[in-house]
Amino acid sequence: MLADYAVRVEQSRGRRYSEPAHSYRNDFERDRDRIIHARAFRRLQSKTQVFTRRYSDHFRSRLTHTIEVAQIARTIAAQLGLNVDLVEALALVHDLGHPPFGHSGEKVLDAAMRKHGLFFDHNLHALRIVEDFELRYAAFRGLNLTFEVREGIIKHSRDYDVAQFPQLAEYLLDQKPPLEAQLIDLADEIAYNTADLDDGYEAHLLTLEKIREGIPVFERFYQVAEKTHPDALEKLKFNEAIKSVLNRFADDLIRHTREKIAAEGIRSLEDVRRDARRLVQFGAEVEHERMQAKEFLHANLYFSPALGSEKQDAEKVIGELFDFWMTRPGDLPPTYQEKAEVEPLARVVCDYIAGMTDNYIYEQYEKYLG
Ligand code: MG
Repeated sequence: MLADYAVRVEQSRGRRYSEPAHSYRNDFERDRDRIIHARAFRRLQSKTQVFTRRYSDHFRSRLTHTIEVAQIARTIAAQLGLNVDLVEALALVHDLGHPPFGHSGEKVLDAAMRKHGLFFDHNLHALRIVEDFELRYAAFRGLNLTFEVREGIIKHSRDYDVAQFPQLAEYLLDQKPPLEAQLIDLADEIAYNTADLDDGYEAHLLTLEKIREGIPVFERFYQVAEKTHPDALEKLKFNEAIKSVLNRFADDLIRHTREKIAAEGIRSLEDVRRDARRLVQFGAEVEHERMQAKEFLHANLYFSPALGSEKQDAEKVIGELFDFWMTRPGDLPPTYQEKAEVEPLARVVCDYIAGMTDNYIYEQYEKYLG
């Protein structure tokens, strides 16, 4: 079933601390299960994807977004003959390092860190969570995940330069990640470019007319839905169009990636790693459509005035709490005070805030600064 260029679990570079094999779960299945049972994974349910708790419970949270990415990524991986267990683990872990308040939270936290000569990166934070912060096992800190899952956490969405990130040298930064990791970033794109249109429309922040005007691929499929189901409710025709866009993007990613693999003569995982470019890609036409959808969402949803108060909250709550703990480290929980003896205080405050849910950070704000 596995293609020649897939990752094979029996060839895994293994865990940091060796553990006896499980009698019927392979190492990538165990990693997936460890991620699902992690506290940081459960906290995704109370972290903002795009819409905060002010909106309805119908909208995606980081957790339901994560589940959608896993579903899309598994489907594509199976078609490409990739290791579906590894793909599922990587999809489930891909947003584990996100702070509260979605992308605004990430920006504010990074800005706060830069004042202290540091920075915030959600992939690096996710690695810290699985390597150190999760305390579940008596024998070691963290989840003791396999090399391939840790490598995918770092490399799924971007390349890191070893000169700038010497602490990541073990992750083969001069090589491309396996296709299983490359796939995650684009499954993420497919998931949120369609889901954010859906939630934006449901929230009445995007009108059907605007979406039809702004996203030609949506417009084509909406016209088909109108012809096929002329009497259906508008929302149901909308759903048909979104579903068709998602299918088109996933189909194209499968087809185009297969073509790239054939064209480049990829026959092994080593070939994937040594290739100059990432091989999981859309074709030119769908890539253009994806960019149109993404630009439309940036221009019309993510920065819309209706979401402005969330952005202001992120700035106020994260920014003020960060400064508060920097001047009053004695008000941090004892475990974080201990960490501040061996790491810069700003890093410790950042780790504490990044782990919080939207609910919890509001509570902290009320407690200390409300
Ligand atoms: Mg994501």
